[in-house]
Amino acid sequence: MSGGEAGLTSVETLLEALPYIREFHGRTVVIKYGGAAMRDDELRDAFAADVVLLKYVGLNPVIVHGGGPEITRYMERLGLEVRFVEGMRVSDRETVEVAKMVLLGKVNADIVARLNRHGQPAVGLSGEDGAMFTIAPHERAEQVGFVGEIERVDVDVLNHIAADYIPVIASVGVDREGNSYNVNADTAAGKVAAALRGHKAIFLTDVRGWLADPGDPESLRTQVSVAEVEAGLGKVAGGMRPKLDACLEAIRGGVGSTHIIDGRLPHALLLELFTDAGIGTKVTP
Ligand code: ADP
Ligand code: MG
Repeated sequence: MSGGEAGLTSVETLLEALPYIREFHGRTVVIKYGGAAMRDDELRDAFAADVVLLKYVGLNPVIVHGGGPEITRYMERLGLEVRFVEGMRVSDRETVEVAKMVLLGKVNADIVARLNRHGQPAVGLSGEDGAMFTIAPHERAEQVGFVGEIERVDVDVLNHIAADYIPVIASVGVDREGNSYNVNADTAAGKVAAALRGHKAIFLTDVRGWLADPGDPESLRTQVSVAEVEAGLGKVAGGMRPKLDACLEAIRGGVGSTHIIDGRLPHALLLELFTDAGIGTKVTP
């Protein structure tokens, strides 16, 4: 390709993005950042660059992150048993302690540092900061232990921080008695998006999106309504379940649309937000 053609392609790309930049200006986008998109340095940098760009063009990005693989790695090093029930990490006191240390001390701190380095200052928070999350034990506490359910999100602290910084939220918190809980990050992202009445909530994952047949990547459901998610939810297991639940929660709470996209793709966020085709599964009311 000649330099001229490459230049034209870039201009076309920018022109394609322009209406979206206009539409999204001043809007809040909650982004669930997880395992797959954190896998290597290149992906982590691409993610940071995308989020920083969103802030520069006038969106209000709010990050909610998990850190599953990292928590698992540390648990294994400490000789702790790793177990999941329906996508939820079975958590005794020790597990929660490790999850909290890894999420806040490492994963959260890394994301914040990377965003800072890419040119937009970020601030890390857990559910305890500014009393953001009110947490109660999950209804299946007998099976999953210290997995929490967020009863309420107080967005006051988020609004203060988001005025100048990119908030980066680790999905942990404490209940009224001071017990720590692990909260599924998808669930937390859905609740935060609803509480902020976000324009969009975007879930980065390690598959193309919601697959009609989990074994077949070509069976991607590209656009579904709340009713279609409700109808299909019973058959969905594993980590996709809390994501679809979170999409429902967000949209019922007033979020415009939610997206489950492939976090293994560099710049997945920009592809979803600023191209006509978009990627992944879009859930609409
Ligand atoms: P993360 O939360 O880091 O994005 P998870 O492993 O928790 O990753 O959730 C994504 C996983 O959900 C997929 O890798 C896949 O194994 C599983 N899954 C189960 N059912 C489906 C489905 N119908 N479509 C897509 N993924 C599914
Ligand atoms: Mg998950």
